[in-house]
Amino acid sequence: MTTTKYPTLIPRFLRYVKINTRSDENSTTIPSSEREVKFLQQLVTELKEIGLTDAVYHDDNGYVTATIPSNIDRTVPTIGFLAHVDTADFNAEGVNPQIVKNYDGHSVIPLDKKGEYTLDPKDFPALKKYQGHTLITTDGSTLLGSDDKSGVAEIFSLVEYLLAHPEIEHGDIRIGFGPDEEIGTGADHFKVPRFNADFAYTVDGGPLGQLEYETFSAAALHVDIKGKNVHPSTAYHTMINAIQLGIDYQNALPQNEVPEETKDREGFFHLLSFNGTPDHAELDYIIRDFERSGLTARKEKAQAIADQLNSQLDEPRVTVEMHDQYYNMIDVMKDHMDVVKLAEQAMHNLDITPDETPVRGGTDGSKISFMGLPTPNLFAGGENMHGRFEFVSEQTMAQAVDVLVEIVKLNAADH
Ligand SMILES: [Zn+2]
Repeated sequence: MTTTKYPTLIPRFLRYVKINTRSDENSTTIPSSEREVKFLQQLVTELKEIGLTDAVYHDDNGYVTATIPSNIDRTVPTIGFLAHVDTADFNAEGVNPQIVKNYDGHSVIPLDKKGEYTLDPKDFPALKKYQGHTLITTDGSTLLGSDDKSGVAEIFSLVEYLLAHPEIEHGDIRIGFGPDEEIGTGADHFKVPRFNADFAYTVDGGPLGQLEYETFSAAALHVDIKGKNVHPSTAYHTMINAIQLGIDYQNALPQNEVPEETKDREGFFHLLSFNGTPDHAELDYIIRDFERSGLTARKEKAQAIADQLNSQLDEPRVTVEMHDQYYNMIDVMKDHMDVVKLAEQAMHNLDITPDETPVRGGTDGSKISFMGLPTPNLFAGGENMHGRFEFVSEQTMAQAVDVLVEIVKLNAADH
């Protein structure tokens, strides 16, 4: 079995998922939660224990970095591997992983004792791919945190494997563990010059073969509406109800361009919140499109609707504020496709078919790529991320480490 090749992979993973490292989107500190700081500092200790003497926690941005030093005389490009330590917005206290050995590929897996929550192939057809695998699931009360402690544990196994196999030639390899990916802020503080790699991969993707280098381009839209509230008894042709204006705004957007009606490469407007009284209303949206020109067109549409509504009012009452959140990393990756090709070749060498479907979301790598470090995303193995149905296969995790090792080998062989 492949997991014996990486003896600490699963024990380490099981140990890490039990530690609550949930990030906190209402926090203003970096990292957002003290839990993350404690865990990141623990990782420094453990990296040093396995032999990476320069492991350090940077308290200006909450990243842990370390180096596997080159073991050859010639110069080869420095690869970075990154994973995030925080978990998503779901109960992460008391994670109690369950092991399902030699899954048959069709049975319903009970999660909690009462059987209220199950992993049923009818709901989650991906389960069928896991015949013969050992699966790690939740007990139904928490998420698992495979996203992204799979990535963390896999990178640790890469380190241990390379240190145990000095015959494998490699250049400098940089390791990075960071906070706050799930609240979308961690990578904002990433320091590319200090990380000092030529290219990198986040190990934060889902099922076997995932190789992501195209993401949405993203903006946030805030709509503020000022009403004119008077007593309903004297409201005739006087009252301007901010809630109604908000409804009008929402109805003026293309009704089929919403997350629940779009797929593949289609973009959308997504209404996240709508709060209002007749006096004042606020709507918050996220805007997504794979094309930068598409994102711009959507932002123009958002403004045009406000202008149109205002033109029919006594004064401008609808104000929109937008800011860009991240861009499709293909804009950067298109000039660094050798980094993608290296990962593709590594997977092909291991009989893994790369799945390069564009991500209907962002990754830390989208931001980091725009900071100048090309950083596609590799699979870490998890399924059904961010909730109680999350699970991961031990075999897939081992294959993820195989891919990391193969990337390292190929990179050295190419130079
Ligand atoms: Zn993740």
